[in-house]
Amino acid sequence: MSELRVLVADDDASCRLVLRAAVERLGYECTVATDGNDAWRLFQEAPPDVLITDWMMPGVDGPELCRRARQRPDDGYTYVILATALGEHEHVLEGMEAGADDYLTKPISPFDVRARLVAAKRVTELHKELERLNAALATQARTDPLTGLGNRLLLHEDLAALHDRAVRYDQGYCVALCDLDDFKRFNDTYGHPAGDAALIELGQLLARETRRGDRAYRYGGEEFLVTLAAQTLPDAVVAMERLRSSVEQLAIPHEASRAGDVMTISIGIAAWHYDDLDTPTTVLDRADALLYRSKAAGRNRVTSDQPEHQPDPC
Ligand code: GH3
Ligand code: MG
Ligand code: MG
Repeated sequence: MSELRVLVADDDASCRLVLRAAVERLGYECTVATDGNDAWRLFQEAPPDVLITDWMMPGVDGPELCRRARQRPDDGYTYVILATALGEHEHVLEGMEAGADDYLTKPISPFDVRARLVAAKRVTELHKELERLNAALATQARTDPLTGLGNRLLLHEDLAALHDRAVRYDQGYCVALCDLDDFKRFNDTYGHPAGDAALIELGQLLARETRRGDRAYRYGGEEFLVTLAAQTLPDAVVAMERLRSSVEQLAIPHEASRAGDVMTISIGIAAWHYDDLDTPTTVLDRADALLYRSKAAGRNRVTSDQPEHQPDPC
């Protein structure tokens, strides 16, 4: 792949010829547009690294093209070079204010094009590196470092999107809050590093056991949350009962547990009520209350908000 992708926009055929030849001589890929509208179409199809644009063109003119290039929706950066006739210096300032990075004066000198592209390459490489770092940082900020699962920040973003989809397509969803039983006693008995190892193992199990469309997150210390997209409550209960049983079958010794002699989890499952007043926060609150019912009932169990458990509508 060429190191730089350059888009040339000029309504003058001889300028296009000189610019294309200068760009291609440097080994860069060059696409050519014959007016502003054509340039904008090509720009949107494949945003270039560098745009060399004439000032005056039919349709979308140079400054307007600069402004549009600065609003790339994909966060990428296009280095914009404005080409103006000698003696039109006031255009240069106006163009730079519209978002151009540099300018070329006509008649075009291949040497000038070459010099401008050296700077363009440096700047676009920096932007690409910045984009890569930003993406890595965004992922890191949403990942729990111990288990590798998504963290609370990612959960809140995903849950908002899941909720919006559910409202739009009239689909249900459930959330299941899972909490390790007597985990403080586990740490006290086996030590904090063993506690960490158990959390990692639980995280791996959750990632493995969640079906397509469902996702597991580390919600807090020893709490995990599973979102079950487009699922009815009875289906969610079956899935979470299976998860509860799988945790038990890991058979991680836990002699201090009040729920048995291996590590177990308690779960509370709440379903969205197909109701404008039921937000992700109220669904989460219900899951939390149901989790506490599982704890109070002896731990290592699943409790859900089946209709008979819901308050009467008034
Ligand atoms: P319950 O069955 O009622 O949930 O009891 P519990 O002991 O699990 O609950 P509690 O909230 O009293 O204690 C949670 C414990 O989880 C205390 C805390 O030290 C431990 N914990 C939280 N995060 C971590 C972690 O990252 N690593 C380890 N090893 N322990 C953690
Ligand atoms: Mg807890
Ligand atoms: Mg606990």
